[in-house]
Amino acid sequence: MASDYEGADLVVVNTCGFIESAVQESLDAIGEAISKNGKVIVTGCLGKEADKIREMHPAVLAVTGAHAYDEVIRAVSLHVPKPDRSQDAGYDPKIDLINEAGIKLTPSHYAYLKISEGCNHRCTFCIIPSLRGDLVSRPIDSVMNEALALKNAGVKELLIISQDTSAYGLDLKYKTSFWNGMPLKSKFYDLCQALNDLGIWVRLHYVYPYPHVDKVVELMGEKKLLPYLDIPFQHASHRILKAMKRPAHSENTLARIHAWREICPDIVIRSTFVVGFPGETEEDFQCLLDWLVEARLDRVGAFTYSEVEGAVANDLPNHVPEEIKQERYERLMTLQQDISAQKLQEKVGKTLMVLVDEIDSEEGIAICRSYADAPEIDGHVYVDEITAQVKVGQFLTVTIDDASEYDLFASYKG
Ligand code: SF4
Repeated sequence: MASDYEGADLVVVNTCGFIESAVQESLDAIGEAISKNGKVIVTGCLGKEADKIREMHPAVLAVTGAHAYDEVIRAVSLHVPKPDRSQDAGYDPKIDLINEAGIKLTPSHYAYLKISEGCNHRCTFCIIPSLRGDLVSRPIDSVMNEALALKNAGVKELLIISQDTSAYGLDLKYKTSFWNGMPLKSKFYDLCQALNDLGIWVRLHYVYPYPHVDKVVELMGEKKLLPYLDIPFQHASHRILKAMKRPAHSENTLARIHAWREICPDIVIRSTFVVGFPGETEEDFQCLLDWLVEARLDRVGAFTYSEVEGAVANDLPNHVPEEIKQERYERLMTLQQDISAQKLQEKVGKTLMVLVDEIDSEEGIAICRSYADAPEIDGHVYVDEITAQVKVGQFLTVTIDDASEYDLFASYKG
């Protein structure tokens, strides 16, 4: 695997076709790869729009779709010179190019672990079910084998991902498999317990607020799982949630959040929201702002609603004008910025364990994350006056000295 275009024999661009901005970003990435390297294979969701890709970028060598692992390997084998080991009669590019922990695009100390693919919901703004199909969970022994291989390869933090993490195993009827000589059910709770037993950080993404999530929060309260939940609430107005056809839209999410904080006071909740969904009135939006004030979430991302080709929501009445969407987006982010700043201020003076992501040796600082920060989407903990012994992927215990709206600043006593 090369870290830059110049060092690569060929570039594989993994695309996303979820929303219009993602399509554009994917097309731009293909263009950049062609101009910087020249040999480009396109894969991922946008691959279903092969004509569109070829029309804009006729130089691409191959276009494959989502999960087209074999096709990608075939295209790579066709267009790049085989390594010397190919003289070996037993050489198989599917195996020999991949180490025990599989192909990882993340730094060596953390990794994403996908536990299922597809989704049984039909949110009106989303086309993932039409791209990826209904929920298909991986058998639990396969998930655990990959998790253990990643741990053995030096991974310190697993980020559990899927389209609907809390629905894990539903399609398998929670089938029991054997792993490590022990029976294990293909069930969200059992999976969380087994992953925790690996003794590394396990961070849950894309969880929906179903009642059975309470039991998993209990594990967090017992310090058996990283107390971090990424829950895409998307809105707070019941009218809008219903129009979005969101999973668990009728749940009283505020009551649930309060209950989780009773069970696990340290829990950190991250979420994303869409503003300006068709039909969203000022009253609906105000309901979302009031909800955010009450919920005091730790991390929030927001997007203005944008149409996705093929999504049901495109045909809903009363689309919100762009300038109103933008104005609502800014109001939401300003409000949340204050909440985030207050919550981070509460951490000043506390001692936290952090994981080192990067070292800035010129400045003498380590750029780290605590349990409250997922990579790439949350803030950082900047630790100053580090010693030469501090390395990427190491856990440090630090004292928080200061906070900004999204980041913490800490000192390390060695
Ligand atoms: S839960 Fe809704 S938004 Fe998420 S993947 Fe399923 S249909 Fe799409």
